[in-house]
Amino acid sequence: MPLLFSFGVRPLNVPPPRTRAPRPGILPYNVLVTDEVDPDGVAILAAEAELQVDVVPTLPPAELMARIGEYDALVGRSATRVTEELLRRATRLRVVGRAGVGVDNIALDTATELGVAVINAPAGNTIAVAELFFGTLIGLLRNLPVAAASMREGRWDRSKLLGSELKDRTLGIVGVGRIGGEIATRARAFSMDVVGYDPYVSEDRFTSLRVRRAASLDELLDVADVLTVHTPLNDETTGMIGRRELARLRPGSYVANLARGGIVDDQALGAALESGHLRGAVLDVYTTEPLPTDHPLRRAPNVVLTPHIGASTAEAQRNVAVDACVAVRDALLRGDISRSINVAAVGSGEWRELQPAMLVARRAAAVARAILADSGMRAIRRLALRCGPAVVSGSGALLSAAALGVLEGVVETDRLNLINARALAEGRGLELSVAESLHLGHPNAVEISLAGGMQELAVAGEAPPGSAPRLTRIGSFHVDVTPRQTLIVLTNNDVPGVIGRVGTLLGDAGVNIAEYHQARLKQGGEALAAISVDDPVTDEVRRSLLGLPDVLSATIVSFRDSGRGV
Ligand code: NAD
Repeated sequence: MPLLFSFGVRPLNVPPPRTRAPRPGILPYNVLVTDEVDPDGVAILAAEAELQVDVVPTLPPAELMARIGEYDALVGRSATRVTEELLRRATRLRVVGRAGVGVDNIALDTATELGVAVINAPAGNTIAVAELFFGTLIGLLRNLPVAAASMREGRWDRSKLLGSELKDRTLGIVGVGRIGGEIATRARAFSMDVVGYDPYVSEDRFTSLRVRRAASLDELLDVADVLTVHTPLNDETTGMIGRRELARLRPGSYVANLARGGIVDDQALGAALESGHLRGAVLDVYTTEPLPTDHPLRRAPNVVLTPHIGASTAEAQRNVAVDACVAVRDALLRGDISRSINVAAVGSGEWRELQPAMLVARRAAAVARAILADSGMRAIRRLALRCGPAVVSGSGALLSAAALGVLEGVVETDRLNLINARALAEGRGLELSVAESLHLGHPNAVEISLAGGMQELAVAGEAPPGSAPRLTRIGSFHVDVTPRQTLIVLTNNDVPGVIGRVGTLLGDAGVNIAEYHQARLKQGGEALAAISVDDPVTDEVRRSLLGLPDVLSATIVSFRDSGRGV
C-alpha cells in the first residue's frame, strides 16, 4: 500500500469495517404504553400507521420483563421501573418516554450506554405548579386551611382569621426558568414586586419577564418578603437555602419550595418557623417522600403542606402525556431525538436546522477515519471538532455525530447512535474536543480532525441551510463534493491521463460517477480526487484502482446510516 505523504500517515494492516446488524422486521414499530398515560397522548401514537400501540395497565416487573423484547418504545409514568436489567433485556428498545418530569424510575446511565433515548415532558406541568404556588401561598396568608377546618367543626372564627395580602410584597424567585417565569408573570398581576436570582439565564429573559435581577443570592435574600425556589435539585442547589440563608431573610418572611425536596433544608426551615423568624412556609416537596408521619414539619406553625401535587391537575397530566407521546413518535419516525435528556442538549427547532451539519460531521469523520485506516493508523486517540459560528450552538450534538462517524463500522453494537456515540467513544479512550472557529471560511463549516500519535487528518465540510451538505477539504486539498452512498478518495501523481483511466475503470465496473473533483497543491505534484459515486465499490475495484499507473492510494468510504428512527 502506498504512503499517503500529504496526510503524513503510515500504512498498517487494517481489518475491513464490520457492518451493523439491520433492525429486525421493518414495520411497524411496537410501542408499549403503561401506567395510565392520558388517552389524548396515546391517540397521537395510535394515529400513526407505522406504530403498533399496546396500552396496558402498570405491569408487574416479571411480566414486563417477559414482554419488553417485543417493543421499540415504552411510554409510562413513574410506576413502571425501567431498570438496568429490563433495558438489557429490551433488545429492540429505542425510546423510553416519561409522561412527566422525574426520571428517577429509569436507569439513565444504562439507557445512555445502550443508546436508548429517554424522553421526559418537563414543560406540561409548568402552569399547574405556578398556580399551586399562588393557591397555597394565598391559602397561607389568608389562613384558609384553618378557616375551612373551623367551619367543618361548626365554628365561626372571623376575628381569629385576620390574613394579609400579596400586593406590594417583594417576591424573590430563585431559578427563573419555566415555572419561575410563569410565577413572575402571575405575581405582577397581584401587584407584587418581583426580583429574581438565576445566574444561568440571559439578561433578556429578566427584561422580557420584567423581573428585577439580583446579582447574588444574598442580594435576593435581603429584599424578599416571600422567597420561592424553582431550580433543579443538584449538587449546587442541595441545601441552597439553609440556616444561614434563612437567617438572612427579613423577620416575618415566607418561604416556598414546590421544586424538589432538599433545596430548602427541612431542618433549618423547621427551626426558623419554630423561632418565629419566618412567618410561614408552603411546601409541596420534601427530602424524604412520603414525608414521615412524625416529621417535625407536620407540626410546624404556619405551614401549608401538600403531598407533592404540583403536577397533579387533569390538564397537566394531559399535557405531559401529549408532550411525551409527540416526542416518542418523532424519535421513532423522524429520528428527532432533540427532546431526549440523554443526548446533547439542543432545542427541537435547532435540531432540525442542525441535521445538515450533523451529516457533514458524520461524513467528514467517516472520510478521515477511512483514509487513516487505509494508511495504517487504526488507533484514533483524539477527535477535534471545529465549527463555524452558525452551527456552534449545536456543537454538542455535532460532536456526537462526529463520534458516531468514527465508531460506525468499528464498534460492534447494533444500537450505536447519537445518544451513546460520545459515551462509547470516551469509553474507548477517544479524547473529544469541540471549539468554535471563525477561520473555516464559512459560518456553517464543520471540521473534524482525527489524530493518533503524532498523525492527524482534518476533513471539513459545509452545511448551508437548504442545500446538500458538501465536503470542502480533505487534508490540505480543497475539494467540493457531495458525499452520497460512497466516496472514493484517490491520491495520484499530477500527470495527464489519470482521470480518464479512473473513469474508464469505474465505468467498466458498473460504478456510476456522480461527481469527480480533482485537486492539487502544485502542478506535477501530488493530486487528490474526491469521487462521489452512486453505487457500492468492492475491494476488487479498489485493488484495480491501486493498480493503475500513477495512482498512489485509494480509499473507499461507504456511508452507513442508521436508517429510520433513533
Ligand atoms: P427549568 O429548567 O425551566 O428552570 C430551572 C431554572 O433554575 C433555570 O432557569 C436554571 O438556570 C435555574 N438554576 C439552576 N441552578 C441554579 C442555581 N444554582 N441558582 C439559581 N438558579 C438556578 O425547570 P422548571 O420546569 O421551571 O422546574 C423547576 C423545578 O420545579 C424543578 O426542580 C422541577 O423538578 C420542579 N417541579 C416540581 C413539580 C412538583 O410536582 N412540585 C412539578 C414540575 C416541576
